[in-house]
Amino acid sequence: MSFDELNLIDPILSALREEGYTTPTPIQQQAIPQVLEGHDLLGIAQTGTGKTAAFTVPILQILHQTAQVERHAPGRIRCLVLTPTRELAIQIGESFAAYGRHLPKLRSTVIFGGVGQHPQVQALKRGVEVLIATPGRLLDLMNQGFIDLRNIELFVLDEADRMLDMGFIHDIKRILPKLPARRQTLFFSATMPGQIQDLADSILRPNPVKVT
Ligand code: AMP
Repeated sequence: MSFDELNLIDPILSALREEGYTTPTPIQQQAIPQVLEGHDLLGIAQTGTGKTAAFTVPILQILHQTAQVERHAPGRIRCLVLTPTRELAIQIGESFAAYGRHLPKLRSTVIFGGVGQHPQVQALKRGVEVLIATPGRLLDLMNQGFIDLRNIELFVLDEADRMLDMGFIHDIKRILPKLPARRQTLFFSATMPGQIQDLADSILRPNPVKVT
């Protein structure tokens, strides 16, 4: 199996080649075609499996292709990725930048707590299509009026079990009502205890595609 068999567009295939990737990992083989078809996804996967590319790659392709057809006004946040830690947020931001390097109209930025908000606010004001965020800083900047989630088409909840362990569930419950109901959602967790399954059921459309 090679990336050429996954119906990916040339700018993304080139970027993957430049990263030195030749073969999609099992989660990428399963997830990429399903996400491209517009399905919601429940992914049970740990870090190290290639999970990040499994969602960033098809998201970049969908945003690129729909932007061509629908001529979206640039600078609206169309994809939100929520992740529990600053390190994961930065890593996901680097993935969007790397796999999207030949799609310059898709801009992304990363926001997280523990640092000054000014540079993050400046990046938001310049305009981004993809926002990668930790929950606390996202809520903070939403409450200050710097972030509008009404145009979200794709929502990723990454490392849901760690989110719960770190006490982010209340923040997430405050963020969810601000997202459009009509959206595609990708939910990832390393484990699936009952509480996480309930959260997944409340966020995903019925009968999501499951990948493990
Ligand atoms: P992740 O599970 O998303 O944290 O990815 C783990 C590591 O695998 C990262 O350093 C990626 O750059 C790398 N990686 C992801 N997909 C592939 C692939 N198809 N081939 C080779 N390396 C990959």
